[in-house]
Amino acid sequence: MSDSLCPWGGYPAFPQTAKRCHWRSVIKQVLAHIVAQHGGFLPFGNGRSYGESCLAASAQVLHMRPLNRFIAADWETGLIRVEAGVTLDKLLALVIPKGWFLPVTPGTKFVTLGGALANDVHGKSHHVRGTLACHVPRFGLIRSDRPPLICSLQENPDLYAETIGGLGLTGIIDWLELQLVPIRSSQIDATHVPFDTLDEFSALSPEVDGKYEFTAARIDRPPQGKSAGRSIFMAANHAPDGSLIFNEQFKPNIPITPPFSTINRLSLRLFNSVYFRVHRAGRHDSRINYEPLFYSLERILNWNRIYGRRGFKQYQSALPLTNSSAATREMLDAIPAVHSGSFFSVLKLFGRVRSPGLLSFPMPGATLALDLPQQGEVTAHLFPRIERLCARLAVASCRVSGTGRG
Ligand SMILES: Cc1cc2nc3c(=O)[nH]c(=O)nc-3n(C[C@H](O)[C@H](O)[C@H](O)COP(=O)(O)OP(=O)(O)OC[C@H]3O[C@@H](n4cnc5c(N)ncnc54)[C@H](O)[C@@H]3O)c2cc1C
Repeated sequence: MSDSLCPWGGYPAFPQTAKRCHWRSVIKQVLAHIVAQHGGFLPFGNGRSYGESCLAASAQVLHMRPLNRFIAADWETGLIRVEAGVTLDKLLALVIPKGWFLPVTPGTKFVTLGGALANDVHGKSHHVRGTLACHVPRFGLIRSDRPPLICSLQENPDLYAETIGGLGLTGIIDWLELQLVPIRSSQIDATHVPFDTLDEFSALSPEVDGKYEFTAARIDRPPQGKSAGRSIFMAANHAPDGSLIFNEQFKPNIPITPPFSTINRLSLRLFNSVYFRVHRAGRHDSRINYEPLFYSLERILNWNRIYGRRGFKQYQSALPLTNSSAATREMLDAIPAVHSGSFFSVLKLFGRVRSPGLLSFPMPGATLALDLPQQGEVTAHLFPRIERLCARLAVASCRVSGTGRG
């Protein structure tokens, strides 16, 4: 069976023909068939990665979502084995009522576990728990050149390290084991702290990171110069007691994609002034559901459509801690006045927990993520420009701190 798939961010527009695979036992057969007919392909999880990483040059993908069965679970230890197409959403529905949670989650629950491992995703708990792969002791890998493999630190260790963050280029992950973390409540104890400058963030973040499992800061649209960085710092832990409830609340949906992006200076200013007014009153503590902390954007389904038919892109950098606030300020300033700015700008400190993957993105330091509407030439020039700036700043920080990494 085949259908057509696009990346969720809407850019680049390069529809893929997808073959669906329902049984692990026939993956090899299906992939041999695609290779014979088209030369090459990529596995496709749920298309939630930014840019073109889930798109194959041949426009042929193997859709992994139909492989979505739970294989085994030990509810004493929290070690589960699932097929690679299980989404975080489906997993949470099963494990929360039993008192378990994900050790690491990205800002969306609509990703498959296979896609999340192939990107080695990180989240608000990175400073404590590292990336997803730190909690995946074993997975299955299907390749055309040998029988199905098991990969772990002991078995096929090279393929284990290369496949984590390997974007589907070393084979197809067909199942994986994940070590969950125990929780006593699905509620979260959260603290919101407003900030005026990035220097304040740099000063407070290491201290706060020591006390909380989840931290991140949301930055306002980039005003230029010294004041750039007005932000709300969020720090949270799982609540020590309470109920264990999977959130199934009704969510509004954006039903159509408008022809143009609704993210412009005016809408951005309006949104940010409401958001920041709610949190500007000063530090406040609250007990909240886990969804607004981890999946705040998903309170509205299909929110990607607000970017219109041209879609959007994300730029994420990781820079050593030395000079990170000056570097972040420069990067925010680099978004030119002609651009509407970033709707969603998140700043966080990565920790020192090492991933077992070779190609994992995080490194100790500060990471800045910017979501930007695709605006033709403007965005085409903007990304290489930020890229060059980021490389220059990384080299400069390494020189200051005397480290060789950058
Ligand atoms: C709103 C939002 C918030 C996000 N927040 C974060 C975040 O906080 N941190 C973070 O790290 N990322 C984040 N992401 C990115 C997203 O979590 C990752 O890109 C994730 O890997 C996408 O999973 P997917 O199942 O949709 O995979 P896809 O996008 O379909 O595929 C991603 C890659 O994995 C490969 N792949 C997919 N399935 C398999 C498989 N079974 N075997 C081998 N390779 C496979 C594909 O070939 C592709 O290269 C966010 C994305 C969105 C949309």
